Amino acid sequence: MSLLSWIDSVVDESGLWTRCHKCGAILYIKHLKKNYYICSSCQTHLQMTGRERLQSLIDPGTWQPFDETLSTIDPLKFSDQKTYISRLKDAQFQTNLQESVLTGTGLLEDIPIALGIMDFNFMGGSMGSVVGEKFTRLIEYATHEGLILILVCASGGARMHEGVLSLMQMAKISAALNIHQNKANLMYIAVLTSPTTGGVTASFAMLGDLIFAEPNALIGFAGRRVIEQTLQEKLPENFQTAEYLFDHGLLDLIVPRDFLKTALFETLKFYQKAPLKKKGKIPPSLFKPSNFLSEEKFRRKLKKQKLKKQTYRSALDTNAKANLSKDDLTSLTKVAESVFKKIKNKQNLAISKSKRKQKKLIKFNQKMFQSLNLFYNYY
Ligand SMILES: [Zn+2]
Repeated sequence: MSLLSWIDSVVDESGLWTRCHKCGAILYIKHLKKNYYICSSCQTHLQMTGRERLQSLIDPGTWQPFDETLSTIDPLKFSDQKTYISRLKDAQFQTNLQESVLTGTGLLEDIPIALGIMDFNFMGGSMGSVVGEKFTRLIEYATHEGLILILVCASGGARMHEGVLSLMQMAKISAALNIHQNKANLMYIAVLTSPTTGGVTASFAMLGDLIFAEPNALIGFAGRRVIEQTLQEKLPENFQTAEYLFDHGLLDLIVPRDFLKTALFETLKFYQKAPLKKKGKIPPSLFKPSNFLSEEKFRRKLKKQKLKKQTYRSALDTNAKANLSKDDLTSLTKVAESVFKKIKNKQNLAISKSKRKQKKLIKFNQKMFQSLNLFYNYY
């Protein structure tokens, strides 16, 4: 046995060591985990599970998962060498996940966010109907609750075992995002990790208000060989890497994995303090149908409002006034005075608020100017 093959057998059997697929360095898994799965010798970002990524982004103890038990029903009865159901069961057993995506809410450095993470280890992170449904539910929840949305993508594309049903998810997620971003005016950040390809790139991965990517991540729609054969051209070495896309204006930022949480936090903090945000509205057709309890609450509220209007009208009525006694009149004038006071207070508050807003705007502009100045002086 040669020395290299002996090393390989030890690496495979021990479960303590692994090999970097780029530079071949042998890495101690415990150290690798601490270093966010970044190869210490060539800085390649190796594959990370969804749960590990969750731990690296969300504050401990704040994660609230959504739809953990949602699973597919194999609508096409698909089978190749194996049936789709048995492939799913194998993936579930290996990854301890129900599907290739984790969704939920949590705190990122005390800022509440809605987060979706794709796991490439589960059938190549492929997007089936469950992935689409989970993402759509998460986006709709974030829209209703006014939360910032972050989706971490790692996928080979749409899941071929579900045919057109998985392709449909592209439109479904994009439609939900349209309401989140353009109607409710809320922010969505897409984080692209290696690989982000196919239907995921062609839909929600490229729709982020801000698009972050990991260094040297493979991001594309069709494969390199297909494009080369179609165009009959040789493509550059770094084609479909994060750096290539960044140079061509498709990404906003390339962030190393160990810096991702800090970069997200800084962005969210900056976004929270921006004074020029316009509050959006959700179209009324998208409100969830009310249950018995909320209906009853609404009915009581309406009743109260009607009663208020009636008493106000009767007080205004001159005929009614003539019939009132002196005590009633004094109590009515007291009520009227208190109402006037309340209105005045509200007006004063509105004036001070607009003044405060102006001050905030000036401060923000000053800060922006300073940081831009610093930036241009630095480069
Ligand atoms: Zn390496």
